[in-house]
Amino acid sequence: MDVSPTRNWCALCRQSVAAWDFAPRFGTRPLCPNCGSLPRHRLLAESLGHLEPVISTASTVIQLGPSPPVTRHLVDLVGHGRYLGLDLGLEDRHVDLLGDLTSLPLRDNSVDALIIVHVLEHIPDDAAAMTEISRVIGDRGVAVLQVPYRADRPTDEDPAAPRGDRVRRFGQADHVRWYGIDFAARLRSAGLQVSEFVADSEFEPATAASRGLSGQLWFATGVGSDPNNWRQQIETLTRRRGTLTRRPIKIDHARRLVDTEQEVRYLRRRLLSEHGQARRRDGDMRALREQLDRRDAELAAARLHLRAQRRQLKKTKRHASDVQKELNAVRSSRSYRVGHTALQPVRRLRHMISNLVGHSG
Ligand SMILES: [Zn+2]
Repeated sequence: MDVSPTRNWCALCRQSVAAWDFAPRFGTRPLCPNCGSLPRHRLLAESLGHLEPVISTASTVIQLGPSPPVTRHLVDLVGHGRYLGLDLGLEDRHVDLLGDLTSLPLRDNSVDALIIVHVLEHIPDDAAAMTEISRVIGDRGVAVLQVPYRADRPTDEDPAAPRGDRVRRFGQADHVRWYGIDFAARLRSAGLQVSEFVADSEFEPATAASRGLSGQLWFATGVGSDPNNWRQQIETLTRRRGTLTRRPIKIDHARRLVDTEQEVRYLRRRLLSEHGQARRRDGDMRALREQLDRRDAELAAARLHLRAQRRQLKKTKRHASDVQKELNAVRSSRSYRVGHTALQPVRRLRHMISNLVGHSG
């Protein structure tokens, strides 16, 4: 299918786009209304699409940190069986292999293409990751990389930065850096050869606009091959979309390049760390339970005290009512009444006397 360069087109979902979406969250970056892809996703799809004749004959394409739209595109491109998704396995996403980019469970020189999209900015020791990339692609493979990148300043990084600072400085709480102009130099330090592919300079402005492309990606190869070949291939290869020949190979075949021992080592490490976490959680739980027991005992003592107080109160009330009754009894007794009324004549007499003697007495 040939696509006119001026028609709006999404290379990721391979559909025409009536109008790009501009969600406030993504600023000026156009989203695909069909698949939600960002410019960087489409740049990757567009580039890999142009490399299709090469990529589709590769025997192993490994994607680090698979993400659904890009993964679907890659699987379409290379076919099941030659594609493997590899991830730490901390999130609940489907992957074929578990492993860590700083210690890949793959043999030396075993991978034809390694797709690493927005992974390196999460890894504290990115130099170790780059060395691993170099080791597994050897001298014949290629790594296609994308990272959060600013071309106007050097890399800003701090794996020890607190969460709030990371969001502000690196754009996301789980990022430890924002790459800058020294990114290619960092890859070269790990023994890789690097070629940068920038949307703005590789595509006509009209094409970049209608395809919703911006940003850049990097091709990295070992010393045995030239990363510029990959860039040039994109320029020279015919755009044979939809003519993919799929030659599925069973996943077992692709797994032959996997270093099982290393994968097992990784799994063991993860298990141990999860075990440690579980133990810590157990400890926390025990402490909480002890605290709860103490509170329970305090509550029981307080209840006993309250009951005693209530009993005391009841006793006092009973006593008060006895006294009242006694008082009533005294008041209604004959001697009380007599004593009370007996005073009346005395008062009268006193009055009479005082009247008689005048007010002298
Ligand atoms: Zn799309």
